[in-house]
Amino acid sequence: MSESAQYDDAVRTFSGVGVSAGRVIGAVKRMPDPVAPPADGAPIADGMSIEEESERLKQATQAVAATLKERASKATGDAAAVLKATALMASDRSLLKSATKLVASGTSAESALWEAADAVATQLAALGGYMAERATDVLDVRSRIVAELRGVPAPGIPDADEPFVLWAVDLAPADTATLDPAKVLALVTSDGGPQSHTAIIARSLGLPAIVAATETTALVDGDVVFVDGINGEVVRNPGEAEALLAEAYASRVELPAFDGDGRLADGHLVPLLSNVGSGEDAVAAAEAGAQGVGLLRTEFCFLGRDKEPGHDEQVAAYKAVFDAFGGRKVVVRTLDAGADKPLPFLTDDSEPNPALGVRGYRCDTATPGVLGRQLAAIAEAAESSEADVWTMAPMISTPAEAARFAAMCAEAGLKTPGVMVEVPSAAVLARQLTAEVDFASIGTNDLTQYTMAADRQLGALAELNDPWQPAVLHLIKATADGGAAAGGDGSPKPVGVCGEAAADPALAVVLVGLGVATLSMNRRALPAVAAILKTVSMDDARRIATLALEAGSAAEAKAHVRAELPDLDRFGL
Ligand code: PEP
Ligand code: MG
Repeated sequence: MSESAQYDDAVRTFSGVGVSAGRVIGAVKRMPDPVAPPADGAPIADGMSIEEESERLKQATQAVAATLKERASKATGDAAAVLKATALMASDRSLLKSATKLVASGTSAESALWEAADAVATQLAALGGYMAERATDVLDVRSRIVAELRGVPAPGIPDADEPFVLWAVDLAPADTATLDPAKVLALVTSDGGPQSHTAIIARSLGLPAIVAATETTALVDGDVVFVDGINGEVVRNPGEAEALLAEAYASRVELPAFDGDGRLADGHLVPLLSNVGSGEDAVAAAEAGAQGVGLLRTEFCFLGRDKEPGHDEQVAAYKAVFDAFGGRKVVVRTLDAGADKPLPFLTDDSEPNPALGVRGYRCDTATPGVLGRQLAAIAEAAESSEADVWTMAPMISTPAEAARFAAMCAEAGLKTPGVMVEVPSAAVLARQLTAEVDFASIGTNDLTQYTMAADRQLGALAELNDPWQPAVLHLIKATADGGAAAGGDGSPKPVGVCGEAAADPALAVVLVGLGVATLSMNRRALPAVAAILKTVSMDDARRIATLALEAGSAAEAKAHVRAELPDLDRFGL
């Protein structure tokens, strides 16, 4: 993977995929290995009495509870709540009681605790809903107590007095709540891709990050490294050149807050919208100046559920988002179940290739009814709010599917139907496809994985899974051209982008130059994208987009485009 790696012990450059901009120097701290399960029913070690083993177990649970409580007292917001809940789990009497009972019958403290926690987690999972989510806390506490009994570092984000560069194989969603951006300077992972949790967290916290840097497994605690999230490189034992780059980054010009008016230097309007996943998210996006919602991921209402949420619950959830954007545009994406978003009551987990299976819009053929009921709930929520609600379906592959979805929207009373372009066939036939609906929005995350035939969840394929790949850019252009040609009556169909590509300020310029009308992104990307768009005219954007289209690789496309946008460096982007 790393053609540029120099096999020199003193200085070594490791390549990966830069997924969040920034340049820093710091000491590495490795995420501890996950705690391996003890052998089933292992006996108490020779020479230890039952009383001594029970005492060891008690001490370990108390120590874990005390550490978590202390960390909770220093944390704020979500992190404090997660830590407090986990501390409570660690001091849970019934867990200790059942484990102690097993120790009394001769089982080692580690095995006893493992088994007892397993039973509690299984019970909680069976209860479903909120209680099922607590099962994860029990399993986390179990690992912590077993680590304490073994005298090895606790799992999860390490704690340290000095800020550090966090190295991990990959980060799990549960790690995100306890990641303190004041303590972590940058993230480097050997695994994960541009759409991995690590990448998403890093971008949302504004931390430099590199994923899929396979050879960084060689880094050890205390190694001093330069992390270049812009070029996707980690340099061990950095020298003066790296120090200068890190300094230049530290003294970058602060980005102005987004003023809610996306436009190019020549005044050409490019509305900047936000991707949201809940009512809370929508409120935060509106506060950040988003000019609307370009992608409401409705899965938030469905994921982690074992049955379909009821009509009223769905109406309330969608209305919470619409109300945050009264009078403005909110693009609702209907349920995108399957592949990376499995839903037990809708998707078939025995499919050999879930990403190529019955997912997104396709679920309506295998399980009719869910989509129709969702459209009815969206329509009712839209009816009772001021927002300008547009509705689109994910994973549309043919004009016939687009036409059928438009008919379903009309039947539900929804007035602006659209499609997501995520499958190459949809991009190639964009004119015929968009002729059936009112708009299209390109999901570059999926469009990239399907164009490059590279699973978006596989770190090993991260280099292929890059929206800078010129082949992906050609399909984006085909979609924008198709939308422009679709309105036979002279009214072109607008084409937006709502995948992660829109959040990359350099790529945003390319997208606009390719003919994309609106960009929708994580709200934290709004200031950077807005600031860079303001530095180019439409003619510049078109010229820069051509450079990217003509490149032979993602790296070449990115380098040619970045060379045209000097303000990226000024803002440290
Ligand atoms: C996409 O595929 O680009 C997209 C926006 O949808 P998701 O990431 O939710 O699949
Ligand atoms: Mg998608």
